[in-house]
Amino acid sequence: MITKGRLGARAFIVGAGVGGLAAAASLAPFFETVEVLDKDELPDRARPRKGVSQDLQVHILLKGGELALERLLPGTRAALLAAGATDVRQTGDVSLWERDAWHPARDLGHSQLMMSRPAFERVLRRQVLQLGNVVIRDRSPVDALPSDADLTVIATGRGDRLLVDVEVPATMLGIEVNYSSVRFAKPERFRGEGRFIGCIPQPPDDRYGLVCPVENDEWLITLCSRFGNRVPGDIDGFRAYAAALPVPDIAQRLCEAVPLTPVRTYRVAEARWRHFERASGLPSCVLPIGDCISSFNPTFGQGMSVAAGHAIALRDVLTDWSGPLEGVASAYLPRAAEISRQAWSLAAMVDLEYPRTEGERPANFDKFVLGSEAMRRAAMLYPEVQLLRFEIGNLVKPDSAARSGPAARLVAREMARAGGRSRER
Ligand SMILES: Cc1cc2nc3c(=O)[nH]c(=O)nc-3n(C[C@H](O)[C@H](O)[C@H](O)COP(=O)(O)OP(=O)(O)OC[C@H]3O[C@@H](n4cnc5c(N)ncnc54)[C@H](O)[C@@H]3O)c2cc1C
Repeated sequence: MITKGRLGARAFIVGAGVGGLAAAASLAPFFETVEVLDKDELPDRARPRKGVSQDLQVHILLKGGELALERLLPGTRAALLAAGATDVRQTGDVSLWERDAWHPARDLGHSQLMMSRPAFERVLRRQVLQLGNVVIRDRSPVDALPSDADLTVIATGRGDRLLVDVEVPATMLGIEVNYSSVRFAKPERFRGEGRFIGCIPQPPDDRYGLVCPVENDEWLITLCSRFGNRVPGDIDGFRAYAAALPVPDIAQRLCEAVPLTPVRTYRVAEARWRHFERASGLPSCVLPIGDCISSFNPTFGQGMSVAAGHAIALRDVLTDWSGPLEGVASAYLPRAAEISRQAWSLAAMVDLEYPRTEGERPANFDKFVLGSEAMRRAAMLYPEVQLLRFEIGNLVKPDSAARSGPAARLVAREMARAGGRSRER
């Protein structure tokens, strides 16, 4: 049963990024007031801010994240569209070159919303404030855990300092990914085009590029690299880097586009998953969420959706909760870990295909790579596999969905065929 205040008078959230806002939505039905504190100034405008310096880079909201946010904050999809998000039909509005081929254009019955991260966050802040019992206090840095809250959620992101003293086992990958992004005005002939373009060559080629149609009919174009390979920091060099990708589509968009910003770069040295469910010494009634638990290679667009998934897990635990709040952590953390696990395994297995990625390769790694390559090839051939691959990659379905059913059998057939081909060679 949901009754405001049923579980306590005051919940406290540190961090008003996507994780903190999603957490506010999950706590609001159970506490009289929910206070969200952030160190940044948060004006009612969509503008980049220091506390999330990654917000100048492309931020894709996976379908699973959109569905989770809609459950937490009904009306979010409509609010995002009203604020100018582009509705990108899958895959009719997508040109995605992956490894050695374009994805076929088919109607998968899904669409994805695209907009800039600051615009996206502004919509979420408004949605959360409409709940009525949530207060967001900006310019409020928190340097110690509060003592006067019934429950505290730590949503301070990948640079978290509040839980550094807790002993937490962690899995790490040295990924050394470099992002460079520029916002562009579209040339006349591309106005109104809501097309997402991606070019992700075959490892070990570590260059890739994304064209994201965002609000105001503009493009946010991100070019990426791994390890020492760097995208040049000037617009001419940025264009030249795109022109060297295996397909010309991104370079074609770039040659006439008018830059609205300089090239902005962001380096992600490592992916990190902190196993709080196995930690000792997590303070009582304190829960981590979002990037504070797991921060991935951003290429797979998972972070915001995983944060929303953690918030759903928290809400589900609280809905049935009747005991003391001290016990919530041991119910919530394993569920949150399972959400991180799925995203981590999808991203990490691709990361580990790059020989320079530092991290432990599992014993069955080669078999996993063959399986995922068979799935990619089968997705080119069969619409049902393309849909399944989209839904797993977008965190709509668990990865276990790939193990049974008609689409899984088509993947197994493709894997057997690939095995036959390699034996013939
Ligand atoms: C280059 C890059 C590209 C990315 N692209 C995508 C993408 O395409 N799709 C996607 O879903 N995700 C993407 N992500 C990940 C995404 O940014 C995060 O996963 C997402 O923002 C959720 O994070 P969070 O809310 O946990 O933390 P953050 O968004 O980092 O928010 C943390 C908040 O805490 C505040 N804060 C920190 N310390 C304190 C303190 N002591 N006191 C008060 N406030 C504090 C900060 O100001 C900030 O507002 C990308 C990340 C990077 C680095």
